[in-house]
Amino acid sequence: MSKYADLCAYGRKGATLGSIGALLGWDQETYMPRGGGEARAEQMALLAGMMHERKTAKEFGDLISACEGESLSDEQAACVREFRRDYDKATKLPQSLVEELARTGSKAQDVWKDARKANDFAMFQPWLEKMVDLSRQKADCYGFGEGGEVYDALLDEYEPNATAREVEAVFTPLGEKLSALVKELTENGTAPDDAPTTVHAPEDRQHALGMHVLKAIGFDLNTGRLDVTTHPFCSGFGPGDTRLTTRYDEKFFPGALYGTMHEAGHGMYEQGLPKSKTHEGPAGDAIATFGTPLADSISLGIHESQSRMWENMVGRSRAFWSWIYKEACDQFAELGKFSEDEVYRAVNIVRPSFIRVEADEGTYNLHVMLRFGIERAMISGDLSVADLPGAWNERFKQMLGLDVPDHANGCLQDVHWSFGLFGYFPTYTLGNLYAAQLWKTINGQLPGLEDDFAKGDFGRLLAWLNENVHTHGRRYGAGELCEKVTGATLSAEPLLEYLGGKLRPVYGL
Ligand code: ZN
Repeated sequence: MSKYADLCAYGRKGATLGSIGALLGWDQETYMPRGGGEARAEQMALLAGMMHERKTAKEFGDLISACEGESLSDEQAACVREFRRDYDKATKLPQSLVEELARTGSKAQDVWKDARKANDFAMFQPWLEKMVDLSRQKADCYGFGEGGEVYDALLDEYEPNATAREVEAVFTPLGEKLSALVKELTENGTAPDDAPTTVHAPEDRQHALGMHVLKAIGFDLNTGRLDVTTHPFCSGFGPGDTRLTTRYDEKFFPGALYGTMHEAGHGMYEQGLPKSKTHEGPAGDAIATFGTPLADSISLGIHESQSRMWENMVGRSRAFWSWIYKEACDQFAELGKFSEDEVYRAVNIVRPSFIRVEADEGTYNLHVMLRFGIERAMISGDLSVADLPGAWNERFKQMLGLDVPDHANGCLQDVHWSFGLFGYFPTYTLGNLYAAQLWKTINGQLPGLEDDFAKGDFGRLLAWLNENVHTHGRRYGAGELCEKVTGATLSAEPLLEYLGGKLRPVYGL
């Protein structure tokens, strides 16, 4: 008797628990009254404990082992392979280390907030040292492949099977050529006027514009919604329910417009995963796919490729502005003073700056690459935590040409390391790389896409992404999917071509 259906049912219960946690988290960031914080923390901790128990239970391991002995289709085998991966990872960490990471990470995060405010690296240093040490212990438990390094074990949590060496091989040429492009634009080009981006944009008008865009690009509002938060995110709860959040700045409308399109890109990936579908079991029976790896996203890099594509390749394109310009002027009266072309150029300004989350498309990846180099060196021990500020400032000057004025604008700006999220940063740039490589393939296969956009029609693009990326869940790894769909391994070229091809004309070059 096949155990495959039992294994999928086991996964579904775990995913249902996870979706309850996600709902609690979403509520906490949007509507929960302040006073609810303590009780919410208890609810979340209880759920986290239950989920960890399920992920590491012997029953789960036994079901996986039983299925590994069965004769399965490729799809079913991929499902079991990925369940095995999750189980092995979860059971490799001792409970005591999981708890220590959570406890120390939570304190370190509090200290980081104060240290950033006080611009005081020395205050944060001992806590960062603890987090680096605990992360190394975690990496030791996970282990890494032959010829690899400790950092690989951490990267693997966010970008399965990627290695630091592979990432470096793509990042190095990208970094050099991007720095040169930014220099060329800022030194030889004519910078667009940023006035169109600072017109007065009332919050309700921005919301109306955002909803108009969501409907047009194909984010399904019958199975999703948009709310307001301080730190925007997207949460795909489960079948039929995907939540987006955004925030509004009345003096800078591109923040919400592109933030909403970014989260919608994540959201349309979640909506495109086969969560509401069934797949065939070994006995020819229909098995619900939700809760199996077949309805799960591949990696943070692939997830980010979807958000960045809608935000940048679509939202910052000339064709998109041909379509949205009139609607945007109807919403923000002052925008009509500027031409369509002036607005398009203004949303594509490249200007080296200190803060990663505010960086433009041209400089963003340089911020990420700097962090990758530094965290890799801290994990290997080549860079001591005490030397972090000096190393940061030196590399920043090299890569972005600016002198870092203080730690709050330098090495203390991101929350990631306080939590112990080492290995997370590269996925941001991997996302841009995957987006550009997919984009090149898409434009080859779907001629005239820009004409569609100019008419407000995004259906062909979304259908392509559904069919080629979303529907597979975790059946293929990120690198494997990239090769299968684009016919090539990941490289820096498509992103460089895309950025140069767009930004040079914007700068009159
Ligand atoms: Zn994102």
